[in-house]
Amino acid sequence: MIDFNKPTLIGNELHYIAEAFDNSHVSGDGPFSKKCQTLLENELGVPKVLLTSSCSHALEMAALLLKIGPGDEVIFPSFTFVTTVNAFVLRGAKPVFVDIRPDTVNLNEALLEEKITSRTRAIVPVHYAGVGCEMDTIQEIANHHNLPIVEDNAHGLFGKYKGKNLGTFGVLATQSFHETKNISCGEGGALLINQTEFSDRAEIIREKGTNRSRFFRGMVDKYTWVDIGSSYILSDILAAVLYAQLEQKDLIQNKRKAIWTRYFTSLQNWADNQGIQLPYVPSHCEQTYHMFYIVLPSLKIRQTLIKYLREKGVISVFHYQPLHLSDMGKQFGGKLGDLPVTERMGDCLLRLPFYNALSETDQDQVIDILTGFKR
Ligand SMILES: *Cc1c(COP(=O)(O)O)cnc(C)c1O
Repeated sequence: MIDFNKPTLIGNELHYIAEAFDNSHVSGDGPFSKKCQTLLENELGVPKVLLTSSCSHALEMAALLLKIGPGDEVIFPSFTFVTTVNAFVLRGAKPVFVDIRPDTVNLNEALLEEKITSRTRAIVPVHYAGVGCEMDTIQEIANHHNLPIVEDNAHGLFGKYKGKNLGTFGVLATQSFHETKNISCGEGGALLINQTEFSDRAEIIREKGTNRSRFFRGMVDKYTWVDIGSSYILSDILAAVLYAQLEQKDLIQNKRKAIWTRYFTSLQNWADNQGIQLPYVPSHCEQTYHMFYIVLPSLKIRQTLIKYLREKGVISVFHYQPLHLSDMGKQFGGKLGDLPVTERMGDCLLRLPFYNALSETDQDQVIDILTGFKR
């Protein structure tokens, strides 16, 4: 069986976990958390990074920081993970969905402006598969309407758009270190703070609404409840694992680049002949090799292919089911036919096995089996 995803140790993970215990600091904001945050700040050129317990929690923090409340509208792609949207809906926001581009599967910037109303409070693009959204246009529209951007950069760590790091376009951006992401500690995330006026309040929100972080820096003489918040902080045990992976980021990214490129070149002829779409990466985007997907001509063909692959021992998985058509999405007025490209991708997109330790032999087998499929 060739799995879709498989978590693997890449370097010093176990050694650093032991070190976290030797440090006698395994709760949040310990030495490994600080190392991860500094590394991310330096690599990305972000003024302030806070590790969080997940990307979902970083998104919830973003909604709290932007003071999103009942009646506010926030704009999203519908082709995304639940929590991109749920984080804002938790604060009472009404989600407004935009369709995606048929080539990059990213939020379609040409359809964005018509979704803006007097109640719009934020725009949340998702860099699907780690390929940057058209940030020039999205930023221009956001600036024109004086709206903050929050980038859900769960797939896009170390990717670039026109030479600028993904995660540095929004006032805030979020990362995920979930098991399925390029760099992982099982469950984890980060909030990237590009506008430093959010930094103090972000620390408070992450520390249960207290000024505990300032207390530990000796800036106040006792800590107390000062704002709303929750426990959004990452254990230093997980930060230890994360630091070991971040140290090996070039190795990880090179492995993934090799896997992605091998799929792309080996599948091109077959895909052309079968009318199957392969990923498109604009030349001004440096992608992160987060996943390899193909787009089949119909839902029926995709389901047949999933079954065919499974019978031959290869696990492939579809991706997001459009949020506007979910039970919750329908409560906000979503209807079939609203977002045709999103609906087609929900039906037709399929992801192939892709993980850091995928061997060439296993990948060859996936490619051989896949190219044996004729619709
Ligand atoms: C994985 C993912 C999330 C959620 O990340 P968690 O760390 O599991 O909370 C959010 N948005 C996108 C686009 C994702 O892929």
